[in-house]
Amino acid sequence: SKAHVVIVGGGFAGASAAKTIRKLDDSIKVTLIESNPRYLTCPGSNWVLGGLRDLESLGFGYDQLALHYGITVIHERVTAVDAEKKSLRLSNRQTINYDRLIMAPGIDFRWGDIEGYDAAVAEYIPHAWKAGQQTQTLASLVQAMPDNGTIAIVAPANPFRCPPGPYERASMLAYYCRQHKPKAKVLILDHKRGFSKQDLFVEGWKQHYGYGTHAALIEWQSIADNPVIALAAKSKTLQTDFGDQIKADVLNVIPAQKAGLIAQQAGLCDDSGWCPVRPVSGESTLRPDIHVIGDAAIQQPIPKSAFAATSEAKVCAFAVVDLLNERELSEPVWVNTCYSLVTADHGISVAMVYKLNEAGEISALAGAGGVTEHTDRQSLYLESRYAMGCYDSITRNTFS
Ligand code: FAD
Repeated sequence: SKAHVVIVGGGFAGASAAKTIRKLDDSIKVTLIESNPRYLTCPGSNWVLGGLRDLESLGFGYDQLALHYGITVIHERVTAVDAEKKSLRLSNRQTINYDRLIMAPGIDFRWGDIEGYDAAVAEYIPHAWKAGQQTQTLASLVQAMPDNGTIAIVAPANPFRCPPGPYERASMLAYYCRQHKPKAKVLILDHKRGFSKQDLFVEGWKQHYGYGTHAALIEWQSIADNPVIALAAKSKTLQTDFGDQIKADVLNVIPAQKAGLIAQQAGLCDDSGWCPVRPVSGESTLRPDIHVIGDAAIQQPIPKSAFAATSEAKVCAFAVVDLLNERELSEPVWVNTCYSLVTADHGISVAMVYKLNEAGEISALAGAGGVTEHTDRQSLYLESRYAMGCYDSITRNTFS
């Protein structure tokens, strides 16, 4: 009988794994379980805030994966995993058995760090850290705020989904405000002491948004030693540990994160809230025959990005196919690339290749990556076009 691989989560990680397994060995039956019939990508969702793209254009369905690769797609929520019986329960009460399970549920939030901020409040004080209604809500709140309004973005501590994401978001909001509300301000309150591509962002902010001057459209402030501990939704006020009160017209609070709920329930997370895995296969160190890929997995120093998620998915798919065919595992290589837009025509990027070192840990390959090197106008313009190209190719590669 055919081996059955079940994949939970049809985001960049899960969809890529499903497709890759079927391409490598079409004798393996693959079932992909994803609650939503349509996936909205987080990549590109900051561009919606800048007015460069509409949310609908970031949507992808699963018909092509079913049609072209013979993947069985089920739109239900997985409610329980039984690692002993190797079976899953779905929200429609169906039970599904697997030979190997790949979990790719993405992230959930650590509600409770900030008093007064929870999933219900986030519907109108959005984090917008999963693309969807909240992305639109954030855009609408910014459009409706006073011309000299302040937007406060609270950026989370490491590790979190998309390290350059909050700073691209600040850039895109400033890009919008420069055209429509030039007296506005985007204030980033950061639970870190520094951030991804910091020099390149700051250089861009100086060029376009008066960064560092009294008329700056963007301000960045580290609150690593003075974290936000409470939020008053009615008055849109944040309170920090030292008792500072910060009031804004629009609050965008991005909470600290952990692996998606079903990974916690399945016993795949350690005390950090994320899932420890063997790098070579993505197999859980806590539960046999279950693999974890994408944002939910601990794959440091690889960042939690869509691009990295597809790379982890491919490494895992190769390993699963080898394991099911009782072959030796091959040596993995991972790649990550993250583009960010500072304006519509100013892009920056980071890229890296990773391999296992002698100690068996994932490590960045020296000389194989880096950040944007050429910062003349034409090069930055080209990078903004590569950003769009990268989006098109990664989504096409994953969903068709
Ligand atoms: P997800 O994309 O979150 O997919 C998980 C899926 O699992 C979801 O569809 C969910 O519905 C499903 N699921 C969860 N639990 C269950 C369950 N119990 N049953 C059934 N289904 C379930 N990355 C880049 O590379 N480039 C970028 O430019 C970029 N920009 C970003 C901008 C923003 C604002 C944000 C927030 C993120 C950005 N990212 C970017 C990061 C990227 O979105 C994530 O790293 C990526 O989505 C991770 O993929 P994943 O498959 O692990 O998780």
